[in-house]
Amino acid sequence: MGLSRRKMLKKAAAAGGVAAAGGGVIMAPQIVSGQAPAQLTGTQTGRRFKAFVRRGTGASVEELKLLAFQPREVVIRTQASAVCYTIVGQVLSTNAARQASIPNHSGMGVVEAIGPMVKRVQIGDRVVIPGTPQCGQCYQCLQGRSDWCQFLSTAPAHPMAEMADGTQVFEGASLGGLSEIMVVPEEYCCPVFTDVPSAELTLLGDTVGTGLAAGHNLAQIEPGADVVVLGAGPVGMGAIQSAKVQNAGQVIVVEPIKYRREIAMKVGGTLTLDPNAEGAGLVPKIRDLCKGPTDRRFAGGRAWADQFLAVPNGADFTIEAVGGDSFPPKVEVGPDPTGILPLQQAFDMTRGGGHIVTLGFGQRGNVTFSAVNFANRGRTFHSGQQGGLNMLRDIPRYVKLIEKGVIDTKTMITKTYPIEQTRQAVQDVADRTVLGAVITFT
Ligand SMILES: [Zn+2]
Ligand SMILES: [Zn+2]
Repeated sequence: MGLSRRKMLKKAAAAGGVAAAGGGVIMAPQIVSGQAPAQLTGTQTGRRFKAFVRRGTGASVEELKLLAFQPREVVIRTQASAVCYTIVGQVLSTNAARQASIPNHSGMGVVEAIGPMVKRVQIGDRVVIPGTPQCGQCYQCLQGRSDWCQFLSTAPAHPMAEMADGTQVFEGASLGGLSEIMVVPEEYCCPVFTDVPSAELTLLGDTVGTGLAAGHNLAQIEPGADVVVLGAGPVGMGAIQSAKVQNAGQVIVVEPIKYRREIAMKVGGTLTLDPNAEGAGLVPKIRDLCKGPTDRRFAGGRAWADQFLAVPNGADFTIEAVGGDSFPPKVEVGPDPTGILPLQQAFDMTRGGGHIVTLGFGQRGNVTFSAVNFANRGRTFHSGQQGGLNMLRDIPRYVKLIEKGVIDTKTMITKTYPIEQTRQAVQDVADRTVLGAVITFT
């Protein structure tokens, strides 16, 4: 087969091969054998495909049958989906699941069918599906906070498929991802017009994209700034690269895992620190590293002497991307499995007037601040839902920067897995023995 699937679909469309079928649903032409692992049955409804399903007290790869989709929904043949750490607790748990569902909350693939009301994408488009929708019309989108789009929901409106025994299967976070097929409302779709590999593109829909967006949307890192990134998992790596893109003066990375510190230095970090080795000295050390070349206040300097510390010294921008451990890592364990300490440190290591972004998930407990420090030291705090991603604007920007070699998504992927090995991929992410674990589909 000489033609790529995308070109084939385009050719078929030009020849009138894509037509409105019964009910107004726009159908893809018959898929050539060998091009798609999922079987078409003439209509999308009833189509059989494989998916990783969490149900009962376990999780396994199952063959499913697609149910009818809605007029504003899009059927996507998945090409890649990166396993996010935030799902490992749920997937590996042996507690009874409330309903059968396909875990995860991002992916990318090719559009194979669209409902009659869909405008944003066409059949044959490559699409990134981020964890956060963007309708462009709701109150939050109109305030410029599409990361809080009012269509964001963790409760899917309807089951997407059923198992052989009739059990209905839902998509986690309304979109799933660990499946040969995704069915999502159009506001979750970001079409991309590029040849960047699928396994790299899918990272823009969740972890790496979140860190990138946090750096330029929420923190708004400035050229020459002192930046600290706490945690060099895939989210932190995005933040590090954002600091690099914005030409930060220094990018200090705090990370207990050695192999992650090494990767951080390859993608934009200028110095790494091990929080276990630094202990209680971490915050004073970072303040010292960010004190600048002079304490001459008439010459643009910061006061170094203790009596002037009413103006807290520290980083201009601090991005926290640690979160709580769902399981003990099989590699170096960080200083606080609850994830509270890095939040406290992020606050304390930022200068008066500086910016703090928090992106970590799954913390257990409460953060305590001195009231005066919280109320009157001029620090600005940004809580990071998907880093403030404005997906239709930002993802194409990141694609361009990947094409230019400025953003490195390739190094972020340390292992790919076929769908049959999804459970192993989730286990590896839980153990933190891999950085980016991506399920790829043939
Ligand atoms: Zn995620
Ligand atoms: Zn919206």
